[in-house]
Amino acid sequence: MTVNQVEPVGKVRTKIVATVGPASRDPAMLRRLVEAGVDVFRLNFSHGSHEEHSRTFQAIQDINREMGRQVAVLQDLCGPKIRLGTIAGDVAACDLDAEFVLTSNPISPDDPRELTCTYQELADDLEIGQTVLFADGTVGMVVLEKRPGWVRMKVTLPGRIRSNQGINVPGAALSVSALTPKDLADLEWTANHAVSYVGLSFVRHAADVTRLRAELQTRGSRARIIAKIEKPQAVANLESIVAEADGVMVARGDLGVEIDVAKVPAVQKRIIEICHRARVPVITATQMLNSMESSSRPTRAEASDVFNAVLDGSDAVMLSGETAIGMYPVDAVTTMSQIAYEAENLVFSRSHSGRGGWPMTAETCRDCPCGPSGTVARAGQVLPITEAVVEAASQVAATLRARLMVVATHSGRTALALSKQRAATPTLALTDDQEVALAMALYWGVTALHIPEIFDTGQVLAFADEWCRQHDLIDTGDRLVVVRGVIPDNPNHNAILVHEVE
Ligand code: PEP
Repeated sequence: MTVNQVEPVGKVRTKIVATVGPASRDPAMLRRLVEAGVDVFRLNFSHGSHEEHSRTFQAIQDINREMGRQVAVLQDLCGPKIRLGTIAGDVAACDLDAEFVLTSNPISPDDPRELTCTYQELADDLEIGQTVLFADGTVGMVVLEKRPGWVRMKVTLPGRIRSNQGINVPGAALSVSALTPKDLADLEWTANHAVSYVGLSFVRHAADVTRLRAELQTRGSRARIIAKIEKPQAVANLESIVAEADGVMVARGDLGVEIDVAKVPAVQKRIIEICHRARVPVITATQMLNSMESSSRPTRAEASDVFNAVLDGSDAVMLSGETAIGMYPVDAVTTMSQIAYEAENLVFSRSHSGRGGWPMTAETCRDCPCGPSGTVARAGQVLPITEAVVEAASQVAATLRARLMVVATHSGRTALALSKQRAATPTLALTDDQEVALAMALYWGVTALHIPEIFDTGQVLAFADEWCRQHDLIDTGDRLVVVRGVIPDNPNHNAILVHEVE
């Protein structure tokens, strides 16, 4: 058996996150997307009502129950995204050197050159000479004059703006809070829906993550936090943010507006590398198969983008508009899954022939806002014992050409450490905590199951053996490498056991 022929529990190890929207929220479509390979559904709280999100959440629960799956939900908070107010006539042409006013005061309903926005303090926060970007960075204006609650700006990058489009002020230290009143209202929804992950938009400091964690705890939610990296301040504070978060998203949409788009690929690699070292799952997001919103085939450049994101070491890759509003949501998931599979095969064959494995990243990125390279310590998070044991287990599995690694894990920590080994042998993770089973949907190469008892090794093995037989995953003579992440009364012990199927 060659490495490439190892049949995994889930064939593709890289996890797929798909955004739900009008194109996909029908339960039958959600089911088709799961069949095509979705592991995590993202509910984008920038759009949709609480009732709509509740219906989607319930539909995903039903699918999990009916299909015996552990598909997780990521609730993505809107965050302090600044948007234009209503523009007279809805659209304004921004010709080079034309002047506009942005104000927190009432504006004329007939003059498209008077603009308002959703963040009332913006005019006061801006400085003369600062650049303000509109419509995904396609239109730029520079601030010429400033008065209380009012600025005059001149167009430097011409284009068109529309009502409600996004505003970015790269590099500005805005006083806006990481959690807006809308986010806090959306967290009331979280209190009643056991989502696995909450995405925090426009994170700037580790303290933003800490604040969200406190808000979640107050509401009795065990949701894990995904810090979305989309601001230059977050890139500068990467290591401390990664140390505080449970997961990270390379949110390339806003990141590519907030920093020079030419620097985004290097920053992506740097974020992934830091997450890899810190044992934190990382999602690469936005425009991955963008053209598939209206085409059943991706561009060659998009196929390469997904492929390279997997080589970089992404634990998951994300679809946004492709599944939320696109015409080909199922094709987009299938295509992403096929590309990830090919990328994984390349790395398995390279590491098999001793030419290096994951992550294939640049060691440092030159001239970018990242901090210096260094190991991220997560004190008390991943024990050195666990690291040594999962490394050895992966090696034993490779040497014995094991069919599967089976990990018994209470918190999911051992499964995550094992996942980051990027072993060619797939992992079946058994946990006694249903919420942990769902959270592991984001862990590369891990298929999770919830079982009532994980402390008795004999029972764990019997369950794994039976389940694998039922799913035609093992045959007589196959080997399973069992990793114990938990031993009662002694949480600092891990163990490896090799089992040959009779
Ligand atoms: C992004 O900016 O890339 C992103 C994922 O965030 P959102 O879709 O919420 O703008």
